[in-house]
Amino acid sequence: MTVATDEFGLIRDYFSDIGSDRSGSVRLSVGDDCAVIAPPPDREMVVSIDTMVEGVHFEAGTSGDRVASRLLGAALSDLAAMAAIPAFFTLALTLPDTDQIWLRAFSTRLAELARHHGVQLVGGDTTRGPLTLSIQVHGWTVPGKALLRSGARPGDRIFVTGTLGDSRGGLETLLKNIHGEQVPFLQHRFFCPEPRLDTALLIAPFATAAIDVSDGLLADLNHILTASQVGAMLNPDELPISHELYHWVGEEQSRQWALTGGEDFELCFTVPALLEPKLAWALRDHSVGVTCIGQISATPGIVLAEDGQIWPVAPQGYNHFSDKGTM
Ligand code: ADP
Ligand code: MG
Repeated sequence: MTVATDEFGLIRDYFSDIGSDRSGSVRLSVGDDCAVIAPPPDREMVVSIDTMVEGVHFEAGTSGDRVASRLLGAALSDLAAMAAIPAFFTLALTLPDTDQIWLRAFSTRLAELARHHGVQLVGGDTTRGPLTLSIQVHGWTVPGKALLRSGARPGDRIFVTGTLGDSRGGLETLLKNIHGEQVPFLQHRFFCPEPRLDTALLIAPFATAAIDVSDGLLADLNHILTASQVGAMLNPDELPISHELYHWVGEEQSRQWALTGGEDFELCFTVPALLEPKLAWALRDHSVGVTCIGQISATPGIVLAEDGQIWPVAPQGYNHFSDKGTM
């Protein structure tokens, strides 16, 4: 194994051959001043960047493979929320030192996931400083077909993919150093978010609005509501909760985390009631569960409907610039 001795050796050893662009648009990758991309005919480019800072998004000492899967998973989840097909990404890396074991674990996992999702690393920047990582992802959509937050209409059904609250549960097991039967599943959900890229393409023909759940369901749904100038009624009984989370913390806590816990990276989306049967048909053989949890209303705000009663809830979630952030 070669061992990087400087910035250029490090880029060559760890970041020069990561993933491949399934859309075939990369003309020139890592190594020159810029990458060169030939956009496929009649496509729009969709772009998003995500940053992770040691001590803020992950604990000091977190292994390179875990950081890689959270970083790329979170970045690709934004492309899923727009129903875009991922193509390529860049990586800005600030490292305190060249820890070969950490770097090898990071780049190996990054390469596995990049291959799996059909994205290619085409360039980046490498600097010395406190461990900070940014990934900018680029994807393609048919012009005018990116799934926005702003299209929800009263009467639309609200859906979520997968299960909610697991990642918040996983974080709790880490913070409190808890061991047990459910812990590996919950920590996997925390460290290895699965961007719902395939699901997004299946739901896109029917969806009026979508977002990925990064700050918590209430907070992220509220972004759809604000952008669409509508409100929502949610049925907490319908929230999809994993057996693992339910068995570990019970109904009340798992519901609370399903509503407000962040970083599940599931999709929340809206579909007109009339298109529900078509959505169900499109998803008939799909492996990811999709659950209806409520309905869009004309009245602003979110209300929970339970036991024949309704009450309003505040759209809490994690906010980096709010004193109330608890994660
Ligand atoms: P420049 O000084 O011209 O900006 P750099 O010396 O920073 O170029 O980078 C050299 C090449 O390596 C460029 O193609 C750049 O995109 C790539 N690169 C630098 N850091 C990374 C990284 N962390 N991951 C992938 N490619 C990188
Ligand atoms: Mg240059």
